Amino acid sequence: MTDKSRGFVYLVGAGPGDPELLTFRAARCIAAADAILVDALVDPRVLEHAKPAARVIEVGKRGGCRSTPQQFIERLMVRLARSGAVVTRLKGGDPFVFGRGGEEALALKRAGIYYEVVPGVSSGLAAAASAGIPVTHRGVSSAVTFVSGHAADGTAPDWGALVKSGGTLVVFMGVKRLPSIVQGLLAAGPAPDTPAAAIERATWPNQRTLRATVARIAEEARRAELDSPAILVIGRAVALADATADMADMARAA
Ligand code: SAH
Repeated sequence: MTDKSRGFVYLVGAGPGDPELLTFRAARCIAAADAILVDALVDPRVLEHAKPAARVIEVGKRGGCRSTPQQFIERLMVRLARSGAVVTRLKGGDPFVFGRGGEEALALKRAGIYYEVVPGVSSGLAAAASAGIPVTHRGVSSAVTFVSGHAADGTAPDWGALVKSGGTLVVFMGVKRLPSIVQGLLAAGPAPDTPAAAIERATWPNQRTLRATVARIAEEARRAELDSPAILVIGRAVALADATADMADMARAA
């Protein structure tokens, strides 16, 4: 890595949870850092790569409890970089997928701080894959859409357009919103027996997957006390999980 004595920020995706899904580049950025700003959904084990003297600052925000305002995080990053530190900003999944990484990059640009964005494995992809769902599959689904169930301005996604696309929908969401998300989706008129899956804590040791039709998934989630973080996957490709799950079980048993 080049000399970063002027201060530098790595905006790094730490992947969906399992520390083994960290990229080599992310591990190198953690090792190079004088200061590490970590989000709540990042597994602390990834910090094993850090220098002993590195300053670790937890700036986690979880749905509902606004512990560290975004502006504070941005100012802190800028201040640390201006003091000459190499700063690694560790964000869950990919930094530019619903993670406000774009805002952080813009704040750094405004402040004249050099930075590099390091992609990560987004939980949107990891949740589906680890539940055995191929988000695209020839003849079944030729598109996948990442959609946020909770837009900042309170507006709902255009479910009608999304349903019409016929592709797989991957919904990032606060679990509390699941009933209203599903309600909005059903109002757009998908086949009520369209398969759906809710994947809780994808790639964590205690991952759980619930499967039901889109018409039943909210009720199943309520019954199973589904908790955050979770991803909702909807579309015909979800049915393929049965085939891939069988083989995964057989592989484990072999
Ligand atoms: N940048 C992140 C997303 C941040 S938004 C990424 O690319 O993955 C936070 C949302 O991501 C959560 O509300 C949840 O919907 C989802 N999420 C993050 N980690 C998850 C995980 N391990 N399992 C399921 N959902 C997860």
